[in-house]
Amino acid sequence: AVLVGRRVRSRGKWERMLRVLKELEEGCDTPVWRLKQVVDAVAVEMHAGLASEGGSKIRMLLTFVDNLPSGKEKGTYYALDLGGTYFRVMQVQLGGHRSSILAHEVERYPIPEHLLISRSEGLFDFIASVFKQFVERNKNGYECSLDKRRDLGFTFSFPVKQTTVSSGILMKWTKGFAIEDMVGREVAECLQEALIKKGINIRVAALVNDTVGTLALGHYHDADTVAAVVFGTGTNACYLERTDAIIKCQGLLTTSGCMVVNMEWGNFWSSHLPRTMYDVELDADSPNPNYQGFEKMISGMYLGEIVRRIILRMSLESDFFGTISSKLSTPFILRTPLMAALCEDNSPDLVEVARVLKDILEVPDVPLKVRKLLVDVCDVVTRRAARLAAAGIVGILKKIGRDGNGGIASGRRSRDDTKMRTVVAVEGSLYTNYLMFRDYLNEAVVEILGEEVAQHVTLKVMDDGSGIGAALVVASNSLRES
Ligand code: BGC
Repeated sequence: AVLVGRRVRSRGKWERMLRVLKELEEGCDTPVWRLKQVVDAVAVEMHAGLASEGGSKIRMLLTFVDNLPSGKEKGTYYALDLGGTYFRVMQVQLGGHRSSILAHEVERYPIPEHLLISRSEGLFDFIASVFKQFVERNKNGYECSLDKRRDLGFTFSFPVKQTTVSSGILMKWTKGFAIEDMVGREVAECLQEALIKKGINIRVAALVNDTVGTLALGHYHDADTVAAVVFGTGTNACYLERTDAIIKCQGLLTTSGCMVVNMEWGNFWSSHLPRTMYDVELDADSPNPNYQGFEKMISGMYLGEIVRRIILRMSLESDFFGTISSKLSTPFILRTPLMAALCEDNSPDLVEVARVLKDILEVPDVPLKVRKLLVDVCDVVTRRAARLAAAGIVGILKKIGRDGNGGIASGRRSRDDTKMRTVVAVEGSLYTNYLMFRDYLNEAVVEILGEEVAQHVTLKVMDDGSGIGAALVVASNSLRES
């Protein structure tokens, strides 16, 4: 009788685990009809964000980048890239014709964690000294000596209200950065001051978002590139818009009649998004509750954390996990690359899953069937993220009339626009390193658009696009000035 009782209890706890998974699957469900609702909502919000300041949660920020690189850019430029897990410094040599990047040196440095939450001076001093060391090591390009003034592109991947292509104020931090004295301050000026303090004679000639850099590099290689998306620590998109469609800035004149708009889509929200209790709790515990809702379902900073919360819930529902380890209760301990490794564990015994559980979450051996269940959890969270990301991309295509329906409110566009080749540049480790995310995303784009339209749409990876692109924006501006 005791044995039977135990078996019943153990079946009970297994069934509770299955119930958690089933609820998760239902809560994260993204059938194509729902994705199409998200597509529509994105396109509608884009219009609202262009119509008035604060008209939408999607900010639709001006970038003052009105000409994308043509290929004629020439010379050697530096770029600094801040905004993800790593800070990057690079030197780019441009040959003067399309796709002629002769060389580029990249060095990446982890940002000491205390700098993310201290004062702005600390962060910018760190950036300036890393840059100085880089310049000293790479003297083959050119020197930023006192007698020769050079130009630099600064990729700063946060919402910035730009006033020119090289200036703008930080509106709000995202992705775990929280340096309060920076909010409302001129970003390029902070960097410029720190560089001067270190005796480096270089002008911050462009301040760009990482999506804008990615679009610039995309366009440099392929003139059909009209939009760019980043799936990294955070997520965002930008695209080329007609200035007359940017209603909130009437009278905005550019030589091309266009301007790149930094959407800041991480902050997008819609009741059509499939939200679970884990998302609600993650948001409430985050440093920026009620902000970056879309980002919190999609980007690299959060996917692992969502999964950790689900595993914690499962461990409370059953005793498969032993006594709950303090690690399992530690926010952000399960980083997304580890989560990806769980999801992509193809070994029959799921050894990688066992290793991560033991080494990272301090959960001792769990039965194989439980490990399999955890792989399913990772799959559900990844699939939802990738499919929502795909809906975001199609939302942009809809807004610009490349979705097969001529777009919304696009009176001037002919239906033939949909047959034009459309390239979307993509950057970010979630897309480039996590095959499953990429496959789910690509598959969903085709599902939403249909094969006929999707065959004209290409997603192209732009490695280091955020930084190289900033150098290209500087080069392209100096070409116009000369
Ligand atoms: C920022 C964007 C950035 C994106 C990707 C978001 O958190 O707000 O400006 O482009 O992350 O790095």
